[in-house]
Amino acid sequence: MANLVAIVGRPNVGKSTLFNRLTKTRSAIVSDTAGTTRDRQYGKCDWAGREFSVVDTGGWVVNSDDIFEDAIRRQVLVATEEADLVLFLVDVNTGVTDLDEDVAQILRRTKVPVLLVVNKADNNEQIYEAPVFYSLGLGDPFPISAATGSGTGDLLDAVIEKL
Ligand code: GDP
Ligand code: MG
Repeated sequence: MANLVAIVGRPNVGKSTLFNRLTKTRSAIVSDTAGTTRDRQYGKCDWAGREFSVVDTGGWVVNSDDIFEDAIRRQVLVATEEADLVLFLVDVNTGVTDLDEDVAQILRRTKVPVLLVVNKADNNEQIYEAPVFYSLGLGDPFPISAATGSGTGDLLDAVIEKL
């Protein structure tokens, strides 16, 4: 698929919420329970006269501790194989977690362009926290709120630029 943008990240960071906002659908299941997106969801996004496809890769992740890390690794590897651009979602409220560092390590090794997206930055105080994620070694963190849409315009401009 040409111009495919994959959303990756550990459970509950807001992948499905961002997918639904970008594709203006409610087709991905948003849930407080980690690991509830059963299948990979594909959708379309229009921005600034460009159209691209988006995939919510959450379906690769099953919320069971022993296969948790493996599942996330597989999710990320599949995404880097099929996507033209990866949006790596993290949660501003948790800061950098061990799983975030695992995912970042995989993404730093791939040739696919990656944008580091700091979600749940609903207010200015949280936006100021975003630079903490520079430590992941994936460039400028983009603070957004998938819930309110704040910051998603700047993110989409960056997506278009990189595609
Ligand atoms: P996923 O597991 O990564 O697909 O995460 P979901 O999209 O299912 O979201 C997990 C939880 O985070 C849900 O309760 C969402 O409502 C919440 N959430 C998602 N985005 C935001 C956001 O920007 N701000 C806040 N405060 N909550 C969010
Ligand atoms: Mg999901």
